[in-house]
Amino acid sequence: MSGVLPGLAFSDEPIAFTPTRAAGLQRLERFAARTGRHYASTRNYDFGAERRTNVSALSPWIRHRLITEEEVLIRVLASHRLGQAEKFVQEVFWRTYFKGFLEQRPSVWSMYQSELVKSYQALESDPSLQLTYSQAVSGATGIDCFDHWVTELIRTGYLHNYARMWMASIWVFTLRLPWELGADFFLRHLLDGDPASNTLSWRWVAGLHTKGKTYLARAENIEKYTNGRFSPTGLARVADPLTETADHPRRPIAPCNAPPSGPYLLLLTEEDLSSADIMPHEPAGVLGLLATHGRSPQPIGEAAQRFTKDALRGILASTDVQPQSADDWSVPILAAAQRIGVRTVATAYPPIGPVRARLDRAESKLAEAGVLLHRVIRNHDSIAWPYANAGFFKLKTKIPTILASLNLLR
Ligand SMILES: Cc1cc2nc3c(=O)[nH]c(=O)nc-3n(C[C@H](O)[C@H](O)[C@H](O)COP(=O)(O)OP(=O)(O)OC[C@H]3O[C@@H](n4cnc5c(N)ncnc54)[C@H](O)[C@@H]3O)c2cc1C
Repeated sequence: MSGVLPGLAFSDEPIAFTPTRAAGLQRLERFAARTGRHYASTRNYDFGAERRTNVSALSPWIRHRLITEEEVLIRVLASHRLGQAEKFVQEVFWRTYFKGFLEQRPSVWSMYQSELVKSYQALESDPSLQLTYSQAVSGATGIDCFDHWVTELIRTGYLHNYARMWMASIWVFTLRLPWELGADFFLRHLLDGDPASNTLSWRWVAGLHTKGKTYLARAENIEKYTNGRFSPTGLARVADPLTETADHPRRPIAPCNAPPSGPYLLLLTEEDLSSADIMPHEPAGVLGLLATHGRSPQPIGEAAQRFTKDALRGILASTDVQPQSADDWSVPILAAAQRIGVRTVATAYPPIGPVRARLDRAESKLAEAGVLLHRVIRNHDSIAWPYANAGFFKLKTKIPTILASLNLLR
């Protein structure tokens, strides 16, 4: 490896993405001291899987709320003033922004899903497209960095933010593949695979999120920010924005419910594995349901499946309950509610994605059986999401207000 940045001491340690809350908290504790100037000045560098010392790599834990955004912010702001850790705090709010935005433009997700099916169908009738796609997903394009990141993604389930941006840009503008296929490839393999952050980031790169503004991956930039590890050739030199005829109308954020007041069944899902904390009292029983396979019409990568399943299994470890998967969630929910004798089910408010889709489908059957579903929203989301109705800038300027509302400012 050439040209190691001066002044940075690296420990050559690949991150073990252990799917437990304890492991997430430990990583947060180790990285907290670096969330100030160090993060702001080095975060754009991708030093490789062995050297994740300049970014937190917390996303797999935060995405499933094994540790929450609020916990991360509390820890960071315990050792930094907001001004010192501003960059890091803003990054945490990008996740909030994307979730809040998709909540208010749900057709972005439904249209992505239908276009994805069409894109897979198009592969079957277009041998040249099929060849380019096969080369891309097997890391055989001949573009050194791209091929490396494909292998890294499949092996580790994690990529640096810039690697994601460069890959998405090369996918769309150099390989000229449909963006939906690339987004799906990511969603199947990322441990932090998330409908909002993933879909909207791909759209951002392609010029569909901030209309007309694209992200072009440049060889010199890749060489510099990978510290000379790659020197790609043949990259597109222009990135004309993709366009779409659909106009995604803004919808109000779907209603949420008050926390349950009497006995209830706690439904844990991969969207919020810490949701017991937002309930007012202990549940009468717990149920854990997985919707990981609903992230894609294709099989989900082994590492991503394992992370989510083991994370849920770990949270359920003190009970005799095992994680389950089902297409019709009303069946396991009604069975569990009946077994423990309750008519109320409480779960963390599910954002747009496969968990939400399953709960929406199940809810009327639950109601027919006299079982009420409470979707309990976190303060973090209910306070911040309304600001996620346009570009990120609007939410960014409100970060101090949001932090003050959450009582997180010293
Ligand atoms: C094409 C593309 C696809 C992506 N797909 C996903 C995805 O499926 N799931 C996902 O969680 N993130 C996704 N991201 C966003 C971002 O790349 C990751 O959240 C980030 O790289 C995680 O690494 P980290 O924890 O080391 O981040 P750090 O730089 O340490 O940031 C701290 C935390 O802030 C949040 N964060 C940072 N950058 C972003 C961002 N750009 N968008 C949203 N949240 C952010 C994450 O929770 C992260 O853990 C995608 C980005 C791109 C460009």
